Amino acid sequence: MSNAIPLIAAIEAPAKINLLGLTRGAMIDFFQSLGEKAFRAEQMMKWIHHWGMADFEKMTNLSKALRTKLSEIAEIQAPEVAYKHYSQDGTRKWVLKLDERNSIETVFIPSAGRGTLCVSSQVGCSLDCQFCSTGKQGFQRDLTASEIIGQIWVANQSFGPTADVNKRSVTNIVMMGMGEPLLNFDPVVASMELMLDDFGYGLSKRRVTLSTSGVVPALRQLTKTVDVALAIALHAPNDALRNELVPINKKYPLKELLAACREYIDAYDHKRKITMEYVMLRQVNDQDEHAHQLIKLLRDLPVKINLIPFNPFPRTQYQRSTDDRIRQFQTILINAGYTTTIRTTRGDDIDAACGQLVGQVQDRTRRSQTWKAQNNQSDLG
Ligand code: SAH
Ligand code: SF4
Repeated sequence: MSNAIPLIAAIEAPAKINLLGLTRGAMIDFFQSLGEKAFRAEQMMKWIHHWGMADFEKMTNLSKALRTKLSEIAEIQAPEVAYKHYSQDGTRKWVLKLDERNSIETVFIPSAGRGTLCVSSQVGCSLDCQFCSTGKQGFQRDLTASEIIGQIWVANQSFGPTADVNKRSVTNIVMMGMGEPLLNFDPVVASMELMLDDFGYGLSKRRVTLSTSGVVPALRQLTKTVDVALAIALHAPNDALRNELVPINKKYPLKELLAACREYIDAYDHKRKITMEYVMLRQVNDQDEHAHQLIKLLRDLPVKINLIPFNPFPRTQYQRSTDDRIRQFQTILINAGYTTTIRTTRGDDIDAACGQLVGQVQDRTRRSQTWKAQNNQSDLG
């Protein structure tokens, strides 16, 4: 008899389903499972994504009985804002707490006529690119679709949600925050469907960009699954150098990567261009010979090239190329007929620039390193 109370206490309420990350198809399935009509899914999506509503009780076009049922079994739960900073130049950054151990960062960057949200797909990254502070943290975990979409939801909340797509501040989304999106395939694809969906964020496929360092089989799968703009983290014009900078190149070398890019172009629109990202590392990949190799390598592909001045972080071995060198590199590529832009570094004052998205995880790593140093332990031990 004395066992009865602990037993009851041990029975946990079933986890509520988070509606934030459900695609239209999944939302329809959910409402049908409750015996409701499919149009409820559209109503719910508008409440969530257009109006930023998280409280079922305030959803006035749903019956009282349905609202009660929903609050018992479902929730609309975005990651908690642990820290936010709005910079002078309009850049906004949020540190979002996912759980007790993990946080991510999301950055909003305004520029003439557009507002770009840089979204994370994983906590940390397993791919260990040598110039990337996220890579240096190692991998912690994948984000759920709710956690990916939650970043847009939080950003829209800060500007005041609206059903009018033309009035929204977030006009473009790039999957260029923490993590390798193609290694978290299903949640990333579901999130991108919601970004494109009129009942979600209603963005055109040109305004949603997936950036990958080149996970070739997943890239091929993506081409068959969802149509969005593509950016490739190229960073080197030959396999020897790319093996060093972007280690996944050892598994999927340039020839395979560029063949998958070709398939992507052929699957959609021959006029569409892939963005080739190229981080400018002083005396590593920024010489004239590298530009000439790049021209040869990309000869047959419709691409534009984005040169990214390296953003330094603590203990990195690299330095940013000089402005003159970057301009000279750009001139060579432009003279060969390539549209070549130089990424302006924004948000430096709040550590929001690309490659500096580190969040809590690095703090933990640093603490553990300090602890090891104090206790005379090495990282290799
Ligand atoms: N994993 C994906 C997306 C996240 S990285 C990818 O690699 O594409 C987003 C972009 O930021 C990539 O082009 C990446 O190479 C670049 N980047 C990473 N670290 C950087 C740094 N320290 N300075 C400048 N750009 C960096
Ligand atoms: Fe991962 Fe991209 Fe950083 Fe490489 S550059 S470690 S793939 S986040």
